[in-house]
Amino acid sequence: MKAPLDVKAIKAEFPILGQEVHGHPLVYLDNAASSQKPRIVLEALVRYYERDHANVHRGIHELSTRATQAYEGARARVARFIGAGAVEEVVFVRGTTEGINLVASAWGPSNLGEGDEILLTVLEHHSNIVPWQLLAQRTGARLKSLDIDDHGRLRLEQLGDLLSERTRLVGVTHVSNALGTVNPVAEIVAAAKRVGATVVVDGAQAAPHLPIDVQALGCDFYAFSGHKMCGPTGIGVLWGRSELLEEMAPYQGGGEMIEIVELERSTYKRAPQKFEAGTPNVADAVGLAVAIDFLEGLGLERIQAHEHDLVSYALERGAQIPGFRDLGPVGDDRAGVLSFELGDIHPHDVAQILDSRGIAVRAGHHCNQPLMQRLGLGATTRASFYLYNDRDDVDALCEGLRAALDFLSGG
Ligand code: PLP
Repeated sequence: MKAPLDVKAIKAEFPILGQEVHGHPLVYLDNAASSQKPRIVLEALVRYYERDHANVHRGIHELSTRATQAYEGARARVARFIGAGAVEEVVFVRGTTEGINLVASAWGPSNLGEGDEILLTVLEHHSNIVPWQLLAQRTGARLKSLDIDDHGRLRLEQLGDLLSERTRLVGVTHVSNALGTVNPVAEIVAAAKRVGATVVVDGAQAAPHLPIDVQALGCDFYAFSGHKMCGPTGIGVLWGRSELLEEMAPYQGGGEMIEIVELERSTYKRAPQKFEAGTPNVADAVGLAVAIDFLEGLGLERIQAHEHDLVSYALERGAQIPGFRDLGPVGDDRAGVLSFELGDIHPHDVAQILDSRGIAVRAGHHCNQPLMQRLGLGATTRASFYLYNDRDDVDALCEGLRAALDFLSGG
């Protein structure tokens, strides 16, 4: 067994976590929405701007060469992180949302037509639903959805009925941001491949928390966001198989993505440049590469084990709180997300009381309205853990929940 994380030392690397909020030490449990940044990432951003910044790929001068090397070096770092077959399979985008929209816009129209089907799951975030709805409206394709069982696990036995030769695309989240379910993506991909469907995986809640190997998963596209994995906002990744990226039309037009431009027509560079029109987000790509170094330095398996321990501890403690009802699965297929109800107290009230004690959680539908409808709920309270959280944070959360109960139910 690998040594557990030294959470105190890790926490000390995150300047923002050292502060007090409303007179209490900050307990940050909103990591599924966005993670905090270690000093090493903040310093890399400053260093890049202080020493190396210029536009990339164009200038024949020292700073442009350095910026280009830093940017392309970041791409190579990402490729290693996810086990990409080639560096060219890594497209920098703003985040998961843009990555999925890129596939829907650039792959969709030439691969889907009237009566074709897109299979999603009821666990999807809006960013893996709405782009497909837009595509379905443009092409006449139909949307279908895989359901969950009472424990928040996908009902894989439905796949046989839902998948057919009409299914052109399957979109699935690797880890549910609302329930913490870790989905059996490789199994879903294998079923999708039997009917010849292309598979897009939303990795927003997986890449920060567990080892990713896109080739082992067998999928065709994989998208994730830098800001949820200790990196900067405004940078993310779309990984796609080379042969698919090469067949796809450009997503946006402009500088950087062209070979030759005439007034009436243009020719385009190959992927990934074909999909990166305009000046790219160089600094944040550099920051993301440093965040990846940081995470891999600690070990994604250790991070995953740590978060699993925290969520198991939280479930144990939560079970002792009257009215606490967890909504996710209990088992190894559970990431560090705790979505729950607390009696009939509204999640916004719970979150507000927690905030008054310096504890940051999320309350609402978590951009999962179809899932909330499926669960018959308007909202949940969600605490989501990361590598800098510890059992003291769970204890603070549980004390806060007891205080909310005392205050709001007059008990
Ligand atoms: N998919 C999932 C599962 C998410 O949790 C999120 C963010 O909360 C997204 C997609 C969208 O990510 P972004 O807003 O960084 O594009």
